[in-house]
Amino acid sequence: MEDQLCQKCPLKSFREENDYHIVWGAGNPNADILIIGEAPGENEAKKGVPFIGKSGRFLRSKLSLYLNLESDAYITNTVLCRPPDNRRPAQDELECCFPHVLSVFHIVSPKLIITAGKVASQWLSDLTNTPFDIYEITAAQIEAKIFAWLPLYHPSYVMRSREQTQRFEDVLKSYRKLFKGVSDL
Ligand code: URA
Repeated sequence: MEDQLCQKCPLKSFREENDYHIVWGAGNPNADILIIGEAPGENEAKKGVPFIGKSGRFLRSKLSLYLNLESDAYITNTVLCRPPDNRRPAQDELECCFPHVLSVFHIVSPKLIITAGKVASQWLSDLTNTPFDIYEITAAQIEAKIFAWLPLYHPSYVMRSREQTQRFEDVLKSYRKLFKGVSDL
C-alpha cells in the first residue's frame, strides 16, 4: 500500500506516468530465504513481479537448480518502483522505500538473505553495520534477528561474461547444502 513516504518519492510520478506497478515481491512470505535485488526493471514494473526480465530470469534459472523459488524464498528489491532508464536508485529513493523493505524483512524473518548486486549488498551492509565480501557467507543482524548473508554479483554483470557465469554457478553449487539445510540454521 502506498504511504506518505511514497508521496515524497521521485519514483512515484514515473510509475504513475507509465502505468507501472509497485513491485512488492514474489514467493513465499514464510520462507527461510529472502532474496533482495536492486530495483525492478521495465518488465517487472509492467507486471508487478520481481526478477522476470532478462537478468532476473538468469538469476532465477541459476538459483532454481538448488531452490524452489516459489516455496523456499521470497524475492524483493531495495526499491519497489522502477527507476527511470534503469539507473541505480538514488539515496532519497532508497530512504523512502526503506520502511517497506524492512517490513518485508520482518514478515519473512529470514534465516538467509541473498543480495544480488552491489546496491543491495551495500544497502544491507549499511543497515547492519556489517562489511561484506562478494560470494562469502557472513552473519548479520537486524534488531534481535541474526541471519546468514550471501552477497552475490548482480546477474546483469555476471551474464555478460562466460567466466563470471561459470564462477557464479560454481559459487551457488558450493552453497547447495546451505540452501537445502537453511531451515536447520
Ligand atoms: N529484476 C529485479 O527485480 N531486480 C533486479 O535487481 C534485477 C532484475
